[in-house]
Amino acid sequence: MFGRLFSKSKGSSGSGDTADAAPEKKVWLENCKFTDFKLGPILGTGSFGRVHLAHHVPTGQICATKSLSKASIVKTKQVLHVKQEKSILARISHPFVVNLLGFCQDDQCVHLVIEYVCGGEFFTYLRSTGRFDEQTTRFYASQVLCAFEYLHNMDIIYRDLKPENLLLDEKGNIKVTDFGFAKQIDRRTYTLCGTPDYLAPEIILNKGHGKPVDWWTFGVLIYEMLAGYPPFYDDDAVGTYQKILSGKVQFPGHFSRSAKDLLRRLLVADLTKRIGCLKGGVKDIKTHDWFKTVDWDSVVRKKDTPPIRPKVSSKDDTSCFDDYSKLGPMKHEFVLSADDQLLFKDL
Ligand code: AMP
Repeated sequence: MFGRLFSKSKGSSGSGDTADAAPEKKVWLENCKFTDFKLGPILGTGSFGRVHLAHHVPTGQICATKSLSKASIVKTKQVLHVKQEKSILARISHPFVVNLLGFCQDDQCVHLVIEYVCGGEFFTYLRSTGRFDEQTTRFYASQVLCAFEYLHNMDIIYRDLKPENLLLDEKGNIKVTDFGFAKQIDRRTYTLCGTPDYLAPEIILNKGHGKPVDWWTFGVLIYEMLAGYPPFYDDDAVGTYQKILSGKVQFPGHFSRSAKDLLRRLLVADLTKRIGCLKGGVKDIKTHDWFKTVDWDSVVRKKDTPPIRPKVSSKDDTSCFDDYSKLGPMKHEFVLSADDQLLFKDL
């Protein structure tokens, strides 16, 4: 039990005014080559490779390079996911989402060049604090909500929300990272607006591919921030799934009435009844009593002081990240054939 409480889990299983506000300025490193980068320490490891702090020598830009091994991608049949991650990242720009700065590839790896988010993983702060009070939880939940509102307005679903996939910038604001499971959806296929009598069961059941998934995970995140542990857990995955499907959520005594009410509305198995997926869309969540003190315009303009201030001394400070210096060089399982290389041609 409590596996994720001690170690990170990197593998994975409406509309509103604030969505378009304050777009981040994008710097694009046109035609960059991986040899243009001077690599610094490893910041983290993902399913297919490594993330390094990096210095783009021609421009002086500090960034993070996410290098994904082509051999691992091909072996696990994830070429499409990688293509989706890159094309989605290239399209989006939001204050609470990491910015893609460039892209390149060589024979062994696909390299995503991303803005460096120096405050470290939100997961680390949550675990070291134990749990957050309601005000702190609301601060971060509001930023995640704005990111999701923006993505959903672009018909992008994120599908992998968890504390491990949130980073803090130097001031302590959220940046959603890792778009490996994100997906561009067809609005007509997945919308739950329209005439309910005509909705096919597979659309209602949605099979985990629609926007409602993000609002469920949003509920899990709020619960985990407030409690210090997630709402559904068991010794094994099957037990966890049973608890998720049981429709029962237990709340610790310190949860406020409005927090419980919001979570009961988010953690609803029937997605036709889940808040965020109803006629009022995301506005239903933003106007819920638990968020009543939130000025949504201030949130997206980052006007409020974040509750946690990461201890960083410079833009390339890596002290907020774990030390991976003992990790050996990246291994590539096999040499790609010419046919396999072709899979990455139109990336
Ligand atoms: P990912 O595979 O994208 O989840 O990345 C693995 C880990 O690398 C993350 O959990 C972070 O610790 C780190 N990381 C990823 N992207 C960045 C970034 N843009 N800035 C700083 N660290 C990052």
